[in-house]
Amino acid sequence: MITKGQIIQGLQAVAEAIAENKDYLTELDAAIGDADHGINLDRGFQKVLEQLPTVADRDIGSLFKHVSMTLISSVGGASGPLYGTMFLRASIATAGKEELNAEAMGAILVAFVEAIVLRGKAQLGDKTLLDVLIPTQQAYQSAIAQGSDFPTAWQTALEAAKTGRDSTIPLVAKKGRASYLGDRACGHLDPGAVSAYLILKTLFDPNL
Ligand code: ADP
Ligand code: MG
Ligand code: MG
Repeated sequence: MITKGQIIQGLQAVAEAIAENKDYLTELDAAIGDADHGINLDRGFQKVLEQLPTVADRDIGSLFKHVSMTLISSVGGASGPLYGTMFLRASIATAGKEELNAEAMGAILVAFVEAIVLRGKAQLGDKTLLDVLIPTQQAYQSAIAQGSDFPTAWQTALEAAKTGRDSTIPLVAKKGRASYLGDRACGHLDPGAVSAYLILKTLFDPNL
């Protein structure tokens, strides 16, 4: 079970983690993009952090809606609308909720995948954040189906997320700026896959 308080702490932790990794994410984007991924996300999550006290009394769905609107209006680039849509769909899946059980967590992960597929038209193996989100959702779903409790299933999901992140290294990009590079994108981590793993790991921490 993850409470609303843990989600608020999780959002604060995400803002900190993105700030700490701002230069790293930007360096990754310098290699196969336009060197702004860390800058874009840090701008957005600092805004989220700034405004958090004004929405802290709302339910989880409203919190995610707020994150979505803030990211859409302040991040820009490809990742702003993508992450914005991801949180928007998650906000619909969690409307009115004050805590997340195993089922609600599953619904969030499905919402994340659906949002990015819908918005970015990418698929698994295209060297995008979907290479993290799809394996995470699948690993979580099968762990729950096999009877794992929530913390165990989430741990399994995060391992799949990390493997998914690293799976982007040899890939040719099919979407976004990195796709202009053809084979030259091979051998580099996808910046969006790295930020997606960081966000998942930091936002939903049952140990917070
Ligand atoms: P921009 O490329 O506009 O500068 P960012 O640098 O903030 O935007 O984000 C780049 C990341 O966005 C990529 O590393 C990739 O993971 C993700 N991305 C780009 N296009 C798509 C897409 N169509 N679907 C899913 N993810 C995408
Ligand atoms: Mg960029
Ligand atoms: Mg850009």
